[in-house]
Amino acid sequence: MESYKIFSLIFLFQIFRYLFISGGLFALFYMWKSPYFKKYYIQTTIITKLQIKTEVINSLISMLILSIFYILLLKYFIKQNFSLIQNFAIYQIIWFILTIPFMIVVNDFYFYWMHRTLHHKYFYRRFHLTHHLSTNPTPLASFSFHPVETILEVIWIFPLVMILPIEKHLLIGYATVSFLNNVKGHLSLDFFPNYTNRWINSSRHHSLHHKNFNSNFGLYFLFWDKLLKTEKIN
Ligand SMILES: [Zn+2]
Ligand SMILES: [Zn+2]
Repeated sequence: MESYKIFSLIFLFQIFRYLFISGGLFALFYMWKSPYFKKYYIQTTIITKLQIKTEVINSLISMLILSIFYILLLKYFIKQNFSLIQNFAIYQIIWFILTIPFMIVVNDFYFYWMHRTLHHKYFYRRFHLTHHLSTNPTPLASFSFHPVETILEVIWIFPLVMILPIEKHLLIGYATVSFLNNVKGHLSLDFFPNYTNRWINSSRHHSLHHKNFNSNFGLYFLFWDKLLKTEKIN
């Protein structure tokens, strides 16, 4: 299939996924059933129409940029016609199972440091303020990034697929895991406020990051925030 057709498919798929999942959860929690779900809101700041518009427009631009990078990855960087479990050797099967968990761990490490760097005063206003325009984020903010930040969100995969045998289906699977984690991070809801989570970077952690700016830099886990004493849950 020609590149522009794959690009269009990836872009449309991302838009559909964003509207269906991020838009659907936003409509459920913040519009349709908001009187019921209000008791789970982490922050009480009013979500304005301008915020929603900003989150949607920035997310659409990010999805356009991401589609370009995904097509570069799939067309030119990932090994073509490659199947990890071709010979059903045990090490191939183990690597196949561990590829996505491995990518999660690598991304978690990379994101923590990339994110902390973006909070440096030199970079913050230039590249990260766009994401922090939402001090009380919604699921629609999942991809609300400055274009440079969008590129930083995906660039780490390039050296990885050049060094390691990563199958394209697993790459697509990972992109979905990453999307769902982003949506979860921006729900700004806590269904179990009395439960103290010690390992997973929760919606509460990320919502408080948007509110306080100087803590909770993690992506999937709390490991780096705990180790470097940047976790804050109040
Ligand atoms: Zn931040
Ligand atoms: Zn965020």
